Amino acid sequence: MSRTFLGLPALRRGGHGGPGGGTGDPAGAHRDSPVADEPFGPVRHPDAPLRWGESFPRAAKEALGNAQLRRNLAHATSTIRARRAAVVGEVPDWEALRDAGSALKEQVLARLPELLEELERNVTARGGVVHWARDAAEANRIVAGIVKAEGADEVVKVKSMATQEIGLNEALAAEGIAAVETDLAELIVQLADDMPSHILVPAIHRNRSEIRDIFLARMGDAPPDLSDVPRELAMAARAHLRRKFLSAKVAVSGANFAVASTGTLAVVESEGNGRMCLTMPETLVTVMGIEKLVPSFEDLEVFLQLLPRSSTGERMNPYTSLWTGVTPGDGPQRFHLVLLDNGRSQVLADETGRAALHCIRCSACLNVCPVYERVGGHAYGSVYPGPIGAILTPQLTGPGARTGGGHGDPNAALPYASTLCGACYEVCPVKIDIPSILVDLRAREVDADRGRLADPTAAAMKVAGWVMSDGGRFAAAGRAASLGRVAGGRDGVVRHLPFPGSRWTASRDLPAPPGQTFRDWWTKEHEPGRTPPPAHEPGDSGEEQR
Ligand code: SF4
Repeated sequence: MSRTFLGLPALRRGGHGGPGGGTGDPAGAHRDSPVADEPFGPVRHPDAPLRWGESFPRAAKEALGNAQLRRNLAHATSTIRARRAAVVGEVPDWEALRDAGSALKEQVLARLPELLEELERNVTARGGVVHWARDAAEANRIVAGIVKAEGADEVVKVKSMATQEIGLNEALAAEGIAAVETDLAELIVQLADDMPSHILVPAIHRNRSEIRDIFLARMGDAPPDLSDVPRELAMAARAHLRRKFLSAKVAVSGANFAVASTGTLAVVESEGNGRMCLTMPETLVTVMGIEKLVPSFEDLEVFLQLLPRSSTGERMNPYTSLWTGVTPGDGPQRFHLVLLDNGRSQVLADETGRAALHCIRCSACLNVCPVYERVGGHAYGSVYPGPIGAILTPQLTGPGARTGGGHGDPNAALPYASTLCGACYEVCPVKIDIPSILVDLRAREVDADRGRLADPTAAAMKVAGWVMSDGGRFAAAGRAASLGRVAGGRDGVVRHLPFPGSRWTASRDLPAPPGQTFRDWWTKEHEPGRTPPPAHEPGDSGEEQR
């Protein structure tokens, strides 16, 4: 029997226990389960959620061959894009809001140690317990210790990027604790033994018939006649999760924001599953990246306008849950806040790259990115895909521990996963200049490779530098290159070159060189006694219009 990413045996229909077990289904116990043990996709939960799988170029090439994936992505991202554009367009001071969000985030990072201590004081004063975690292992240890101390072997979870980043579900499973994702899309991903491929819509790569198959195979209490009608799928998940909510003693959440001046935590969501987790269990554990702070309660006003419009394309989130410590007789009676660093301090130390910590995880940059739309989230090999993933992941993981950075590091390719079109910057609600950070990270990656003999790019650059540093050599190279026009087709495009040129023509066209070099043209045009050609007027067809 194969195992789910929780480390539990993959469930057969009608099974019990674990995330798909529910209360079991007596009717289902007699069904065949031909697909229960089969993987639902090529991706299995990795050991390192910030660095897994192939490097981006290889993974992207494979993803491009999946037409169904591209159809799912194109449909989903274009729908969200249109909704976002409509609700953003109705806010007259949207740009001012973006400026305010950006300024607030800059202020938070500038005062981070002081604000974190203020948050700790206020959470503690209101009955909560604050824990500090340097890295994923420490955070996982803290959470597992709390759950064990409560005598629980199952927790319900609110969708949380921070807990995905640290691989909390797998760490809990290793301690004999099952974590049940309660967000619908996260539940689909979990049941499929899959990885999320979008920050906001983790199962964006699945269509509804795939989801029906996953429920039937892995969710023990799914109705046997379940169709792929979205409402039926949602109702099946609702019934399954309701039983989990009613029995859970411990819930685990992330946090969208934490207010330093009051110790208040905030989670926004659309389904109400988060509200159930945050109010019903006796104990609540919140894992939060240290950058998620806002200084005061009033500052929430800015982000609670920016976030829903940028993420789900709504004017406000259907559920906005705020809690401050513990309230006797109301909600969880024990509250633990785990403040997670996991590489954030090293990002903070970088003057350019630290802007990545402004991110409020709205996913707007993913939805407009032409690269993301074609390759999907798994190709990025990190729980943070798309443009924000391309700048955040390499910084969180730092220069490759195994390779010292440069081309040998799988995450070093991520800053190249962009056309630098700038669409991500235009939609980012907190104005993160993603293209500039991408260029900066590329420069660092090139610097890390500088001087390595085996690097073909460095070798090519050395040869180019030698040729260009001498007028005679450069002229000879130009004339030699012009001979290459014989390799061009009738349309003047070279499509296939022998190695090493094949590495270029494998994915790009190459214009055939012109028959005359610029130097030859110049010499001819300026021969003594030759009449100079008339100057071009603006609007003429000519060089300046290209
Ligand atoms: S970088 Fe900006 S647009 Fe992208 S997820 Fe973060 S806040 Fe949203």
